[in-house]
Amino acid sequence: MASWDYSPAPESTDVVRIRDDYGLFIGGEFVEPAAGEYSKTINPATEEVLAAVPVADERDVGRAVSAAAKAFKRWSALAPGERARYIFRIARVIQERSRELAVLETMNGGKPIRESRDLDVPLAAAHFFYHAGWADKLEFAFPGRTVEPLGVAAQIIPWNFPLLMLAWKIAPALATGNTVVLKPAETTPLTALEFASICEEVQLPAGVVNIITGAGATGAALVRHPDVDKVAFTGSTEVGKEIQRAVAGTNKKVTLELGGKAANIVFEDAPLDQAIEGIVNGIFFNQGHVCCAGSRLLVQESIAERLMDKLKRRLQTLKLGDPLDKNTDIGAINSREQLNKIKSLVGSGVDEGAELYQAECELPERGFWFPPTVFTGVSQSHRIAREEIFGPVLSVLTFRTAEEAVEKANNTPFGLSAGVWTEKGSRILWMADRLKAGVVWANTFNRFDPSSPFGGYKESGYGREGGRHGLEGYVR
Ligand code: NAP
Ligand code: MG
Repeated sequence: MASWDYSPAPESTDVVRIRDDYGLFIGGEFVEPAAGEYSKTINPATEEVLAAVPVADERDVGRAVSAAAKAFKRWSALAPGERARYIFRIARVIQERSRELAVLETMNGGKPIRESRDLDVPLAAAHFFYHAGWADKLEFAFPGRTVEPLGVAAQIIPWNFPLLMLAWKIAPALATGNTVVLKPAETTPLTALEFASICEEVQLPAGVVNIITGAGATGAALVRHPDVDKVAFTGSTEVGKEIQRAVAGTNKKVTLELGGKAANIVFEDAPLDQAIEGIVNGIFFNQGHVCCAGSRLLVQESIAERLMDKLKRRLQTLKLGDPLDKNTDIGAINSREQLNKIKSLVGSGVDEGAELYQAECELPERGFWFPPTVFTGVSQSHRIAREEIFGPVLSVLTFRTAEEAVEKANNTPFGLSAGVWTEKGSRILWMADRLKAGVVWANTFNRFDPSSPFGGYKESGYGREGGRHGLEGYVR
């Protein structure tokens, strides 16, 4: 099939200044970790070392939590309009430094610059703008009730949307008068550390936001710290369960945003070309490292063949490669560990008898890569239909009736999101009523807005982030 050849169009990395090593951001200052231990963070597209980042231990966690507890008194007593001003300033600085943040996000995480530039960073700014607006209007968010902040929020985020997940966590916490200790994922700490310098730039009072880096052990110590009042976690269901056990019997308020295995359901009356774009965006956006990814495609049997032909043709046009190139659709897999997980699950799909289709594309020699992959002939019992792959891998199943589509879509331990493609509004509503998913998209997929609550059912977690509902997790 004919396709365009694009000349390289790499984004310049001159706009970012990455330091050789970083400090922990505690009490408004960058400080050395108590144990003097550092780990290296790399660019997953090249395997080049970008910087050395501190590994916070229990002592550092203790320092960060006391800095946050100390700052809480003044921050929570501040006039809400004053708090709003700081949050507005943060939003504006994110916008001013958007190019730098986008390039840094892409270098450290491997996602296409087109996505970090057009989605991650603008949405992060939008979350701060939106929550700045709520800060002095909480009596309207909770009519007839008087709410109070909780205290110190321990926030732990994953590597797939580092700056955006930081925004989802920090913006509502600050707007409601809480202070924060945030731990980014081990593989993607750099935009969170850059955010710490944004806090300095806007002169946010010391200790209101503390950023500590490290691996799972740092996160576990943070969750267990007795002076933490709230735990907000986004990550795997497995770690979510561990956190739930760690806080059982304490007064800590918890919200968990965990994994997913979303059904993207296409009826025979759907606008097919649009649906193809929605399917591609649903599973190949951010290399499929998306908790709400449309990883199970449910197609009505009558159009399955036609849809698959179109989808395979569309896959051949996806450009995989340098994430900094503005034409790139599919960037690098975030880590070797994640690449191995994807490979092993794809291997199970082949072993269990599903039919594999992969777009022909050349994978760069260095870095971590996986081609866009589609499995047909998938049955409900296959691991690739049940487990979260968190990679660019789509499992296709078929259905005949709407009832069957609902039953298959809900046949999963998860319940984060779903998509419905049909021209009938009545069918959209009928489906949305029956799908056990926190978000149901109609004739679109992977749309995010700060005013719209996001969160799961079942093993996808509990609590909502975004919208008025998202504020609830940060007040009593
Ligand atoms: P993960 O291992 O659960 O890690 C998430 C965060 O928790 C990281 O910062 C991690 O640190 C930290 N962590 C690890 N063990 C911990 C422990 N025992 N106590 C406290 N914190 C701990 O998840 P991942 O493998 O990085 O990310 C992929 C998974 O996240 C997928 O399953 C995906 O579905 C899920 N996810 C869900 C959402 C959502 O909104 N629902 C969004 C994104 C991702 P390290 O980085 O050092 O391991
Ligand atoms: Mg992990």
